[in-house]
Amino acid sequence: MADDKLERIKCLIIGSGPAGYTAAIYASRADLKPVMYTGMEPGGQLTTTTEVDNFPGYPEGIDGPTMMVQLQQQAERFGTQVRIGMVTEVDFAKEVGGIHKACIDNKTWVEAETVIISTGATAKYLGLPSEQRLRGGGVSACAVCDGFFYKGQEVAIVGGGDTAAEEATYLANICSKVTMLVRKDEMRASKAMQHRVMSTKNIDLRYNSEVDEVLGEQVVEGLRIVNNETGEKEDIKITGLFIAIGHKPNTDIFKGQLDMHDDGYLITKGKSTKTNLPGVFASGDVQDKEYRQAVTAAGTGCMAALDAERYLATVESEEEVSA
Ligand code: NDP
Repeated sequence: MADDKLERIKCLIIGSGPAGYTAAIYASRADLKPVMYTGMEPGGQLTTTTEVDNFPGYPEGIDGPTMMVQLQQQAERFGTQVRIGMVTEVDFAKEVGGIHKACIDNKTWVEAETVIISTGATAKYLGLPSEQRLRGGGVSACAVCDGFFYKGQEVAIVGGGDTAAEEATYLANICSKVTMLVRKDEMRASKAMQHRVMSTKNIDLRYNSEVDEVLGEQVVEGLRIVNNETGEKEDIKITGLFIAIGHKPNTDIFKGQLDMHDDGYLITKGKSTKTNLPGVFASGDVQDKEYRQAVTAAGTGCMAALDAERYLATVESEEEVSA
Protein backbone atom coordinates (compact mmCIF):
# COMPACT_ATOMS: atom_id res chain seq x y z
CA MET A 1 0.00 0.00 0.00
CA ALA A 2 1.26 3.46 -0.88
CA ASP A 3 1.83 5.85 1.96
CA ASP A 4 -0.42 8.90 1.38
CA LYS A 5 2.06 11.17 3.14
CA LEU A 6 4.87 10.53 0.68
CA GLU A 7 5.34 12.54 -2.48
CA ARG A 8 4.60 10.37 -5.55
CA ILE A 9 6.84 11.00 -8.57
CA LYS A 10 6.16 9.50 -11.97
CA CYS A 11 9.78 9.50 -13.08
CA LEU A 12 12.60 9.95 -10.59
CA ILE A 13 16.02 10.69 -12.08
CA ILE A 14 19.03 10.17 -9.85
CA GLY A 15 22.13 12.08 -10.97
CA SER A 16 22.76 15.16 -13.09
CA GLY A 17 25.37 14.37 -15.74
CA PRO A 18 24.71 14.22 -19.49
CA ALA A 19 22.80 10.94 -19.04
CA GLY A 20 20.49 12.36 -16.35
CA TYR A 21 19.79 15.61 -18.18
CA THR A 22 19.12 13.88 -21.48
CA ALA A 23 16.77 11.47 -19.74
CA ALA A 24 15.10 14.54 -18.17
CA ILE A 25 14.68 16.29 -21.52
CA TYR A 26 13.01 13.23 -23.07
CA ALA A 27 10.97 12.33 -19.99
CA SER A 28 9.61 15.86 -19.53
CA ARG A 29 8.70 16.13 -23.22
CA ALA A 30 6.82 12.82 -22.82
CA ASP A 31 4.92 14.36 -19.88
CA LEU A 32 6.44 12.03 -17.27
CA LYS A 33 6.98 15.11 -15.05
CA PRO A 34 10.47 14.05 -14.02
CA VAL A 35 12.05 15.08 -10.76
CA MET A 36 15.84 15.00 -10.70
CA TYR A 37 18.03 14.81 -7.61
CA THR A 38 21.42 16.18 -8.58
CA GLY A 39 23.70 14.34 -6.15
CA MET A 40 26.83 15.75 -4.52
CA GLU A 41 28.36 17.05 -7.72
CA PRO A 42 25.59 18.81 -9.67
CA GLY A 43 26.42 18.54 -13.37
CA GLY A 44 28.60 15.49 -12.85
CA GLN A 45 32.10 14.85 -14.12
CA LEU A 46 31.87 17.31 -17.00
CA THR A 47 31.81 20.21 -14.56
CA THR A 48 35.44 19.40 -13.84
CA THR A 49 36.57 19.19 -17.42
CA THR A 50 37.80 22.06 -19.56
CA GLU A 51 37.14 21.93 -23.23
CA VAL A 52 34.74 19.30 -24.60
CA ASP A 53 35.80 19.03 -28.22
CA ASN A 54 34.09 15.81 -29.17
CA PHE A 55 30.41 16.45 -28.45
CA PRO A 56 28.64 16.76 -31.82
CA GLY A 57 27.22 20.17 -32.62
CA TYR A 58 29.92 22.34 -31.06
CA PRO A 59 32.37 23.09 -33.87
CA GLU A 60 34.48 25.32 -31.62
CA GLY A 61 34.17 23.05 -28.56
CA ILE A 62 32.44 24.00 -25.32
CA ASP A 63 33.59 24.06 -21.72
CA GLY A 64 32.09 21.35 -19.52
CA PRO A 65 30.35 23.55 -16.91
CA THR A 66 28.67 25.68 -19.60
CA MET A 67 27.43 22.58 -21.36
CA MET A 68 25.92 21.23 -18.15
CA VAL A 69 24.17 24.54 -17.37
CA GLN A 70 22.69 24.52 -20.86
CA LEU A 71 21.53 20.90 -20.49
CA GLN A 72 19.87 21.83 -17.19
CA GLN A 73 18.13 24.81 -18.80
CA GLN A 74 16.94 22.60 -21.66
CA ALA A 75 15.53 20.02 -19.21
CA GLU A 76 13.85 22.73 -17.11
CA ARG A 77 12.32 24.32 -20.21
CA PHE A 78 10.09 21.25 -20.57
CA GLY A 79 9.20 21.12 -16.88
CA THR A 80 11.85 18.97 -15.20
CA GLN A 81 12.17 19.76 -11.51
CA VAL A 82 15.87 19.85 -10.64
CA ARG A 83 16.45 19.50 -6.90
CA ILE A 84 19.75 19.69 -5.05
CA GLY A 85 19.88 16.55 -2.95
CA MET A 86 21.40 13.14 -2.59
CA VAL A 87 19.54 9.86 -2.78
CA THR A 88 21.00 8.02 0.20
CA GLU A 89 18.92 4.83 0.26
CA VAL A 90 16.51 3.01 -2.02
CA ASP A 91 13.84 0.39 -1.55
CA PHE A 92 12.89 -0.83 -5.01
CA ALA A 93 9.70 -2.80 -5.73
CA LYS A 94 10.18 -6.17 -7.41
CA GLU A 95 6.88 -6.54 -9.24
CA VAL A 96 5.67 -4.84 -12.43
CA GLY A 97 3.75 -1.69 -11.49
CA GLY A 98 5.25 -1.68 -7.98
CA ILE A 99 6.15 1.61 -6.33
CA HIS A 100 9.81 2.33 -5.70
CA LYS A 101 11.02 4.34 -2.74
CA ALA A 102 14.03 6.58 -2.37
CA CYS A 103 15.36 8.44 0.66
CA ILE A 104 16.68 11.95 0.10
CA ASP A 105 19.56 13.24 2.25
CA ASN A 106 18.91 10.56 4.89
CA LYS A 107 15.67 12.40 5.77
CA THR A 108 12.72 12.36 3.40
CA TRP A 109 11.35 9.39 1.48
CA VAL A 110 9.71 9.83 -1.92
CA GLU A 111 7.81 7.31 -4.03
CA ALA A 112 8.40 6.78 -7.73
CA GLU A 113 6.65 4.85 -10.46
CA THR A 114 9.85 4.71 -12.49
CA VAL A 115 13.48 5.41 -11.59
CA ILE A 116 16.28 6.35 -13.96
CA ILE A 117 19.70 5.87 -12.40
CA SER A 118 22.42 8.10 -13.84
CA THR A 119 24.72 8.43 -10.85
CA GLY A 120 27.90 8.22 -12.91
CA ALA A 121 31.29 7.30 -11.57
CA THR A 122 33.82 8.81 -9.14
CA ALA A 123 37.57 9.25 -9.45
CA LYS A 124 39.76 6.46 -8.09
CA TYR A 125 42.79 6.97 -5.87
CA LEU A 126 45.90 4.80 -5.57
CA GLY A 127 45.13 3.85 -1.98
CA LEU A 128 48.56 4.64 -0.49
CA PRO A 129 48.41 5.87 3.13
CA SER A 130 50.59 8.89 2.29
CA GLU A 131 48.30 9.78 -0.62
CA GLN A 132 45.16 9.58 1.55
CA ARG A 133 46.79 11.63 4.31
CA LEU A 134 47.67 14.43 1.89
CA ARG A 135 44.34 14.62 0.07
CA GLY A 136 43.43 18.28 0.25
CA GLY A 137 47.07 19.04 1.05
CA GLY A 138 48.35 18.80 -2.49
CA VAL A 139 46.87 15.49 -3.67
CA SER A 140 43.96 15.97 -6.04
CA ALA A 141 41.96 13.95 -8.57
CA CYS A 142 40.95 17.00 -10.58
CA ALA A 143 43.56 19.06 -12.39
CA VAL A 144 40.97 21.45 -13.74
CA CYS A 145 39.60 22.17 -10.26
CA ASP A 146 42.94 22.51 -8.47
CA GLY A 147 45.63 23.11 -11.09
CA PHE A 148 45.40 26.87 -10.64
CA PHE A 149 46.84 26.59 -7.11
CA TYR A 150 50.11 25.25 -8.53
CA LYS A 151 50.81 28.04 -10.97
CA GLY A 152 54.52 28.15 -11.83
CA GLN A 153 55.27 25.11 -9.66
CA GLU A 154 56.39 21.54 -10.36
CA VAL A 155 53.70 18.85 -10.16
CA ALA A 156 53.19 15.20 -11.08
CA ILE A 157 50.30 13.26 -12.56
CA VAL A 158 49.58 9.52 -12.41
CA GLY A 159 47.84 7.62 -15.23
CA GLY A 160 48.14 6.87 -18.91
CA GLY A 161 44.56 7.22 -20.16
CA ASP A 162 42.85 10.10 -21.94
CA THR A 163 42.08 11.84 -18.66
CA ALA A 164 45.71 11.79 -17.53
CA ALA A 165 46.87 12.96 -20.97
CA GLU A 166 44.32 15.78 -21.08
CA GLU A 167 45.08 16.88 -17.53
CA ALA A 168 48.84 16.70 -18.07
CA THR A 169 48.63 19.10 -21.00
CA TYR A 170 46.25 21.33 -19.04
CA LEU A 171 48.70 21.42 -16.11
CA ALA A 172 51.64 22.02 -18.44
CA ASN A 173 50.05 25.35 -19.38
CA ILE A 174 49.94 26.47 -15.77
CA CYS A 175 52.87 24.73 -14.08
CA SER A 176 56.59 24.95 -14.76
CA LYS A 177 57.01 21.16 -15.06
CA VAL A 178 54.72 18.12 -15.07
CA THR A 179 56.11 14.65 -14.38
CA MET A 180 53.74 12.07 -15.80
CA LEU A 181 53.87 8.53 -14.40
CA VAL A 182 52.56 5.69 -16.58
CA ARG A 183 52.75 2.25 -15.03
CA LYS A 184 53.08 0.29 -18.30
CA ASP A 185 55.52 0.82 -21.16
CA GLU A 186 52.73 2.41 -23.19
CA MET A 187 49.84 4.80 -22.71
CA ARG A 188 46.20 3.82 -23.01
CA ALA A 189 45.24 7.29 -24.24
CA SER A 190 44.24 7.85 -27.88
CA LYS A 191 47.05 8.49 -30.34
CA ALA A 192 46.01 12.13 -30.69
CA MET A 193 46.21 12.69 -26.92
CA GLN A 194 49.56 10.86 -26.72
CA HIS A 195 50.88 13.13 -29.44
CA ARG A 196 49.78 16.18 -27.46
CA VAL A 197 51.61 14.92 -24.38
CA MET A 198 54.78 14.06 -26.25
CA SER A 199 54.92 17.36 -28.04
CA THR A 200 54.57 19.38 -24.83
CA LYS A 201 58.06 20.38 -23.76
CA ASN A 202 57.55 20.67 -20.00
CA ILE A 203 55.95 17.22 -19.57
CA ASP A 204 58.48 14.65 -18.35
CA LEU A 205 56.85 11.37 -19.40
CA ARG A 206 58.03 8.30 -17.53
CA TYR A 207 56.93 4.79 -18.41
CA ASN A 208 57.03 1.79 -16.04
CA SER A 209 56.83 4.27 -13.20
CA GLU A 210 54.63 4.21 -10.10
CA VAL A 211 54.25 6.19 -6.91
CA ASP A 212 56.02 4.51 -4.01
CA GLU A 213 55.20 7.25 -1.51
CA VAL A 214 53.99 10.83 -1.41
CA LEU A 215 56.47 12.87 0.63
CA GLY A 216 55.54 15.65 3.04
CA GLU A 217 53.86 15.99 6.45
CA GLN A 218 51.12 18.63 6.10
CA VAL A 219 51.45 19.32 2.39
CA VAL A 220 52.97 17.55 -0.60
CA GLU A 221 56.71 18.25 -0.80
CA GLY A 222 57.84 15.49 -3.09
CA LEU A 223 57.30 12.07 -4.57
CA ARG A 224 59.19 8.79 -4.30
CA ILE A 225 58.90 7.15 -7.70
CA VAL A 226 59.64 3.48 -8.27
CA ASN A 227 60.53 1.96 -11.63
CA ASN A 228 58.53 -1.28 -11.68
CA GLU A 229 61.01 -2.98 -14.03
CA THR A 230 64.25 -2.23 -12.22
CA GLY A 231 62.93 -1.54 -8.71
CA GLU A 232 64.97 1.66 -8.73
CA LYS A 233 63.60 4.48 -6.59
CA GLU A 234 63.97 8.21 -7.07
CA ASP A 235 62.76 11.21 -5.09
CA ILE A 236 61.56 14.27 -6.97
CA LYS A 237 60.41 17.62 -5.60
CA ILE A 238 56.82 18.55 -6.37
CA THR A 239 54.09 20.54 -4.64
CA GLY A 240 51.05 18.93 -6.25
CA LEU A 241 50.12 15.36 -7.18
CA PHE A 242 47.22 14.67 -9.53
CA ILE A 243 45.66 11.23 -9.74
CA ALA A 244 43.98 10.34 -13.04
CA ILE A 245 43.63 6.55 -13.01
CA GLY A 246 39.98 6.03 -13.81
CA HIS A 247 36.68 5.90 -11.98
CA LYS A 248 34.44 3.75 -9.78
CA PRO A 249 30.70 3.61 -10.54
CA ASN A 250 28.46 5.17 -7.90
CA THR A 251 26.32 2.15 -7.13
CA ASP A 252 26.87 1.43 -3.43
CA ILE A 253 23.27 2.29 -2.50
CA PHE A 254 21.93 -0.23 -5.04
CA LYS A 255 23.93 -3.21 -3.75
CA GLY A 256 21.73 -6.19 -2.96
CA GLN A 257 18.85 -4.83 -5.06
CA LEU A 258 20.23 -4.36 -8.56
CA ASP A 259 22.39 -6.78 -10.53
CA MET A 260 25.90 -5.45 -11.04
CA HIS A 261 29.25 -6.63 -12.34
CA ASP A 262 32.06 -7.44 -9.90
CA ASP A 263 33.46 -3.92 -10.34
CA GLY A 264 30.11 -2.32 -9.46
CA TYR A 265 28.84 -1.32 -12.92
CA LEU A 266 25.09 -1.90 -13.21
CA ILE A 267 23.95 -4.63 -15.59
CA THR A 268 21.36 -3.65 -18.18
CA LYS A 269 19.41 -6.07 -20.36
CA GLY A 270 20.45 -6.45 -24.00
CA LYS A 271 20.44 -3.16 -25.83
CA SER A 272 18.00 -1.59 -23.36
CA THR A 273 18.54 0.38 -20.16
CA LYS A 274 16.41 -2.08 -18.15
CA THR A 275 17.87 -3.35 -14.91
CA ASN A 276 16.74 -6.60 -13.26
CA LEU A 277 13.85 -4.72 -11.60
CA PRO A 278 10.78 -3.53 -13.52
CA GLY A 279 10.55 0.25 -13.74
CA VAL A 280 14.21 0.82 -12.80
CA PHE A 281 16.52 1.90 -15.61
CA ALA A 282 20.22 2.75 -15.74
CA SER A 283 22.00 5.14 -18.09
CA GLY A 284 25.42 6.73 -18.50
CA ASP A 285 28.73 5.77 -16.92
CA VAL A 286 27.05 3.90 -14.06
CA GLN A 287 26.31 1.09 -16.53
CA ASP A 288 29.03 1.67 -19.11
CA LYS A 289 32.62 0.82 -18.40
CA GLU A 290 33.52 0.66 -22.05
CA TYR A 291 32.68 3.90 -23.85
CA ARG A 292 32.22 6.42 -21.01
CA GLN A 293 31.73 9.44 -23.23
CA ALA A 294 29.40 12.38 -22.70
CA VAL A 295 27.68 11.62 -25.97
CA THR A 296 27.19 7.91 -25.23
CA ALA A 297 25.93 8.81 -21.75
CA ALA A 298 23.46 11.24 -23.32
CA GLY A 299 22.38 8.53 -25.78
CA THR A 300 21.61 6.04 -23.03
CA GLY A 301 19.82 8.78 -21.06
CA CYS A 302 17.49 9.16 -24.02
CA MET A 303 17.02 5.38 -24.14
CA ALA A 304 16.20 5.24 -20.42
CA ALA A 305 13.46 7.87 -20.77
CA LEU A 306 11.96 6.00 -23.73
CA ASP A 307 12.17 2.71 -21.80
CA ALA A 308 10.47 4.36 -18.79
CA GLU A 309 7.73 5.82 -20.97
CA ARG A 310 7.02 2.42 -22.61
CA TYR A 311 7.07 0.68 -19.24
CA LEU A 312 4.49 3.11 -17.82
CA ALA A 313 2.29 2.69 -20.91
CA THR A 314 2.38 -1.10 -20.45
CA VAL A 315 1.56 -0.84 -16.75
CA GLU A 316 -1.34 1.53 -17.46
CA SER A 317 -2.81 -0.67 -20.20
CA GLU A 318 -2.54 -3.75 -17.93
CA GLU A 319 -4.36 -1.83 -15.20
CA GLU A 320 -7.11 -0.88 -17.67
CA VAL A 321 -7.53 -4.50 -18.79
CA SER A 322 -7.81 -5.77 -15.22
CA ALA A 323 -10.18 -2.93 -14.17
P1 NDP B 1 41.13 4.87 -18.20
O1 NDP B 1 40.55 3.71 -17.49
O2 NDP B 1 41.01 4.95 -19.68
O3 NDP B 1 42.70 4.95 -17.88
C1 NDP B 1 43.16 4.80 -16.59
C2 NDP B 1 44.67 4.92 -16.60
O4 NDP B 1 45.14 4.85 -15.26
C3 NDP B 1 45.37 3.78 -17.36
O5 NDP B 1 46.53 4.28 -17.98
C4 NDP B 1 45.71 2.82 -16.23
O6 NDP B 1 46.84 2.05 -16.52
C5 NDP B 1 46.05 3.78 -15.11
N1 NDP B 1 45.91 3.20 -13.79
C6 NDP B 1 44.83 2.55 -13.27
N2 NDP B 1 45.07 2.19 -12.00
C7 NDP B 1 46.31 2.59 -11.71
C8 NDP B 1 47.15 2.51 -10.56
N3 NDP B 1 46.71 1.94 -9.44
N4 NDP B 1 48.38 3.06 -10.63
C9 NDP B 1 48.83 3.65 -11.75
N5 NDP B 1 48.10 3.76 -12.88
C10 NDP B 1 46.86 3.24 -12.85
O7 NDP B 1 40.50 6.13 -17.48
P2 NDP B 1 40.39 7.64 -17.99
O8 NDP B 1 39.82 8.36 -16.83
O9 NDP B 1 41.64 8.15 -18.54
O10 NDP B 1 39.34 7.62 -19.16
C11 NDP B 1 38.01 7.10 -18.96
C12 NDP B 1 37.24 7.14 -20.29
O11 NDP B 1 36.95 8.50 -20.64
C13 NDP B 1 38.01 6.56 -21.44
O12 NDP B 1 37.15 5.85 -22.28
C14 NDP B 1 38.57 7.77 -22.16
O13 NDP B 1 38.79 7.54 -23.52
C15 NDP B 1 37.46 8.80 -21.92
N6 NDP B 1 38.00 10.19 -21.94
C16 NDP B 1 37.97 10.89 -23.11
C17 NDP B 1 38.46 12.18 -23.17
C18 NDP B 1 38.41 12.89 -24.47
O14 NDP B 1 38.15 12.26 -25.48
N7 NDP B 1 38.63 14.19 -24.50
C19 NDP B 1 39.02 12.86 -22.00
C20 NDP B 1 39.02 12.03 -20.82
C21 NDP B 1 38.53 10.76 -20.82
P3 NDP B 1 46.77 0.71 -17.40
O15 NDP B 1 46.65 1.17 -18.83
O16 NDP B 1 48.07 0.08 -17.08
O17 NDP B 1 45.59 -0.07 -16.92
